[in-house]
Amino acid sequence: MASNKKVIVLGAGISGLTTAYLLHNDSYDVTVLEKNDKVGGSIETVIENGLLFDRGPNSALETTPLIAQLVEELNLTEQFVYANKKGNKRYILRNNQLHALPISPPAFIKSRLFSGKAKLRLMKEPFVGKSQDGYYQSIAEFVTRRLGQEFLDYAINPFVAGVYAGNPEDLSIKSAFPKLYALEEEYGGLIVGTIRSIRKRKKRKEQSKQSTKMISFKDGMKVLPEAIANHLGSKVKLNAEVVSIKKTSDGNYGVTYNEGEQSLTLLTDIVLSTIPAYTAGELFGHFNDGLKKHLAAVYYPPVLVLYLVYNKDDIGQPLDGFGFLIPSKEEKSFLGAIWNSVIFPNRAEDNKASFTLFIGGSRNPGFIYDDEEELIKTVKREFEELMKIKGEPIHLAKRFWEKAIPQYTIGYVEHENYFDHFEKDNRGIFLSGNYRGGISVGDCIKNAELVLNKINSLQ
Ligand SMILES: Cc1cc2nc3c(=O)[nH]c(=O)nc-3n(C[C@H](O)[C@H](O)[C@H](O)COP(=O)(O)OP(=O)(O)OC[C@H]3O[C@@H](n4cnc5c(N)ncnc54)[C@H](O)[C@@H]3O)c2cc1C
Repeated sequence: MASNKKVIVLGAGISGLTTAYLLHNDSYDVTVLEKNDKVGGSIETVIENGLLFDRGPNSALETTPLIAQLVEELNLTEQFVYANKKGNKRYILRNNQLHALPISPPAFIKSRLFSGKAKLRLMKEPFVGKSQDGYYQSIAEFVTRRLGQEFLDYAINPFVAGVYAGNPEDLSIKSAFPKLYALEEEYGGLIVGTIRSIRKRKKRKEQSKQSTKMISFKDGMKVLPEAIANHLGSKVKLNAEVVSIKKTSDGNYGVTYNEGEQSLTLLTDIVLSTIPAYTAGELFGHFNDGLKKHLAAVYYPPVLVLYLVYNKDDIGQPLDGFGFLIPSKEEKSFLGAIWNSVIFPNRAEDNKASFTLFIGGSRNPGFIYDDEEELIKTVKREFEELMKIKGEPIHLAKRFWEKAIPQYTIGYVEHENYFDHFEKDNRGIFLSGNYRGGISVGDCIKNAELVLNKINSLQ
């Protein structure tokens, strides 16, 4: 659809940039305002002395064909990489031992990750009735009811820490894992639902439009936001912190931002916010008190990311997987580790292995009050014991995220409904970003298309 309407996009993270790209292709007059001196938001890659440290996301899932489209249109085919097949193997810690997460029925039967009792409990799953309250039911309640306590403790608890840096007791099953809840809603159970949905797809001979494979780029995750920003050129303004949004007498908007010492105002038809909820609350709160409260209520726990590189010869653990996750019950000082040089090329020289460890999240937000040096020492020692590492790291780096990932908590739907109503009542303002419609990079990209459609429907 052709349009000359002006759109100001707040934030040059992956949500803002992807939507700006689509709007620009649709002939909107787009300007992206980013407060930092670089694009990408949570996506940050540092390359130093042949070592590549993704300080935010290390990979994305190919959840939408739009990713392949962007790769092609931005000439990133040479850069684009799928994860090594080894990445399919994921370990979970139990009793200080790493166990491969079983991904087939025979592997599940043989696995020592779950007790015989837990395996038998799983057989009951098809006979467990449906629930009615997905938005108000925690992941923990849902999983315990359907699959039993041990499955919660040793599969879902670490998984939720790996995706959200969150706790299954706090998050809503329907808001945080809608596809999982849909299996119960549509088919009555997870096992039956999985089998039936595979059969249904096969019957229709419907090739899934998305591979949901894990992807990244040779030079790290920053490649995608940087390529979009290069494509948009001067339409992306860095060091431009938005400080206020006002409605003008003709029903449009004035967006004021600071650039160095200067305060500048741009007039626009449409304002698209992709900044975090807590900042959006400050900027849009004066439009509506309720909105301010809902945006401020979205919780982002802190996460410390630790990057360690060792000589491969010093590592006793076979490097044949994606990494490992740690259940709360194991009482370690970190959430898990990604073996990034195993999964993607160009992460470290062949004789070295690089790892990214995650600390804190909702499981332990209080770590911010601990002595950081001592905490890192403890985490390093625990990691080295689990990985049977003999030598010292040849490189160590870190990145502290004070507010890392929004938590889709129980009753989150009330925030989502409020945001929908606010957009309807305030024509021309759109609220997007990772606190709506999924926190993953893949979901943020997918959502850009939904936001484009919403904006187009204003015409
Ligand atoms: C440590 C970590 C690990 C993660 N790992 C993964 C992973 O492995 N896989 C995965 O899929 N996802 C992962 N995620 C989640 C994913 O990276 C994010 O949800 C996603 O990148 C968010 O994109 P966004 O554009 O919505 O928001 P952001 O990336 O937060 O972008 C918002 C932008 O707005 C800017 N901004 C803020 N205030 C203003 C203002 N006043 N004026 C102008 N600009 C402003 C910010 O500077 C920022 O650039 C991870 C996140 C973190 C933090």
